[in-house]
Amino acid sequence: MVQRVLLAEDDHVLRGQLIDLLTERQFVVESFGDGAAALDFGLNQTFDLAVIDLGLPKLPGLELVKTLRASGLDQPILILTARGDWHDKVEGLEAGADDYLVKPFHIEELVARLGALSRRADGALQTTLSLGPLSVDVKAKAVSVGKVALSLTAYEYGLLTLFLRRPGQIVSKNELADHLYQEDMDRDSNVIEVFIGRLRRKLAAETSELQIETHRGQGYRLMQHCVS
Ligand code: CA
Repeated sequence: MVQRVLLAEDDHVLRGQLIDLLTERQFVVESFGDGAAALDFGLNQTFDLAVIDLGLPKLPGLELVKTLRASGLDQPILILTARGDWHDKVEGLEAGADDYLVKPFHIEELVARLGALSRRADGALQTTLSLGPLSVDVKAKAVSVGKVALSLTAYEYGLLTLFLRRPGQIVSKNELADHLYQEDMDRDSNVIEVFIGRLRRKLAAETSELQIETHRGQGYRLMQHCVS
């Protein structure tokens, strides 16, 4: 599944390189040049992993990490530090980061660390998402309704898990598209409608308790309806 990375790095050359290289490796990158903008995004949007430079304008990377953690976000965070100073690493890890890299680093090292962090997160964090009879084993990417296994495509699975991570909330088409695609891909919203339609039919075949509601001009919401 596509991983959405929150990237906070004020060095625009390095930021550009990271965007290019991570995008090439199938990550969706949301990048910010200062800590305040990254925090605003982090608190209001979804992401799977964060790469945060410690030396950031407006809000230092350390404060950014602390604030994200204090708000209950538990996604893996990797910090970047320009210095080899061990204090930085210790403070960063104590603030809630999971790993660190000292600049300069090789992009493959970053990609490897992110892969390890996301695997660890899949194992350590919430391993099951559920709503009513629907249950998703995140580790195995296995979906079931009651005792029946549901076979979903990668896109359908991506949509479903995003809905389950946003219980009771309307998720906009843009956000769904962001979650599924690379930035530069075709963002035709009809495509989202098609995927939603397919997911709806697969769910409806197994249960009438769960419905993906359409909220015109706003987006979609997965809801559980009690049936007698
Ligand atoms: Ca910096």
